[in-house]
Amino acid sequence: HLPTAELQALDAAHHMHPFTTNNELAERGARVITSGKGVYLRDSEGNEILDAMAGLWCVNLGYGREELVKVAARQMQELPFYNTFFNTTHTPAIALAAELAKLAPEGLNHVFFAGSGSESNDTNLRMVRVYWAEKGQPEKSHIISRKNAYHGSSVGSGSLGGMAYMHAQGGLPIPGIHHIGQPDWWAEGGDQTPEEFGLARAQELEAKILELGADKVAAFIAEPIQGAGGVIIPPSTYWPEIQRICDKYNVLIIADEVICGFGRTGNWFGSTTMGIKPHIMTIAKGLSSGYMPIGGSIVCDEIAEVINAIEFNHGYTYSGHPVCAAVALENLRIMQDENVLDHVNNVAGPALNAALTQLGDHPLVGGVNVKGMMASLPLTPNKATRAKFAMDAGTVGFMCRERCFANNLVMRHVGDRMIISPPLTITADEVEIFHKRAKTALDETYKALKD
Ligand code: PLP
Repeated sequence: HLPTAELQALDAAHHMHPFTTNNELAERGARVITSGKGVYLRDSEGNEILDAMAGLWCVNLGYGREELVKVAARQMQELPFYNTFFNTTHTPAIALAAELAKLAPEGLNHVFFAGSGSESNDTNLRMVRVYWAEKGQPEKSHIISRKNAYHGSSVGSGSLGGMAYMHAQGGLPIPGIHHIGQPDWWAEGGDQTPEEFGLARAQELEAKILELGADKVAAFIAEPIQGAGGVIIPPSTYWPEIQRICDKYNVLIIADEVICGFGRTGNWFGSTTMGIKPHIMTIAKGLSSGYMPIGGSIVCDEIAEVINAIEFNHGYTYSGHPVCAAVALENLRIMQDENVLDHVNNVAGPALNAALTQLGDHPLVGGVNVKGMMASLPLTPNKATRAKFAMDAGTVGFMCRERCFANNLVMRHVGDRMIISPPLTITADEVEIFHKRAKTALDETYKALKD
């Protein structure tokens, strides 16, 4: 209960924040979040902030769900920890794996747990290589990903990612990982139609496979809809062509569902929404609505059979952690009992779509990208040409994010795109509040640019 300024000073002095400069913290102080209820956060100054990012795309059921708290407390009393290494297991991990197998697309029936999305993608990186080695093709080990993708921050998952600013630090990517262009028609499509552009970007995968040799390529990894890259919804031609190419060259598909999974796109998994048939799906975030750190890889029968036949020398102390697994299981129960997917498809999604369509008329907004409950609004000085701003990329997005904060709204910015990913449980009335605050923030940004 220290005053905000004292908390901020201690924070700046001792707490190293991810993706943040210490100058920013020292100059302006971090916003101290103290509690949350539903779609609202409260800060140390008593402001009530509408969180249109669901934390980091993860608090799908909203804040303050007592059921999740009770299950965590009960599990902590009963069995706070035991590992799943070797031949031991426990009920929460068993039940969660079985439930995920039930919810996942047909043929994906096996779960390897981890503590996060990054760890899960590290698992995938090794698992696909081990799979091909066991099949007698050890050289089929290269992995193709996409520029500007985010798959995590560990050395392995950061290498799978394609963010240039991450590769600029610490020697990423590790060898054997390659990146092709992303299907971002808005920023890179030029005069091509979205369909032409989507096809051309998918065909970059074929060109890369042929360049490396199909017998060298283990897997392609991608999010069904790229999230942290800016909510890039691929043109309709993209995924069918990717699927065709992967099928043709026997390249495994790893669908990173860390953001898209658990209802965000209106289905349990984004792969269903985009018509993808993955061999492995990465999960985390919404699996527990962010209440506990848990992730995993949902693996198809064929790969699991090969991996389970050997000792896969891989695992984390917290793989299948009983408290995390129990909370995730309860989260999935609530989603089903409360028909959260129906709410997304019939209430929250349409309300968000309508609000964003109206914001699309704003002079700063160059387009509306929305699928279910993930969306982005690219900002531009010229709607007709989808032009970039004269100042450094991200300057206007940052200004807008700050105006959102000042109006008690969390919208993140990726470059000059505003990102929206609220709790899936948001009501139509709350979407209207989001709309009003977002409009005010856009107006204020527009005015500041004019002045
Ligand atoms: N994959 C995707 C698509 C993500 O968005 C993220 C995190 O934002 C990750 C992986 C990494 O997950 P984590 O932060 O839990 O390690």
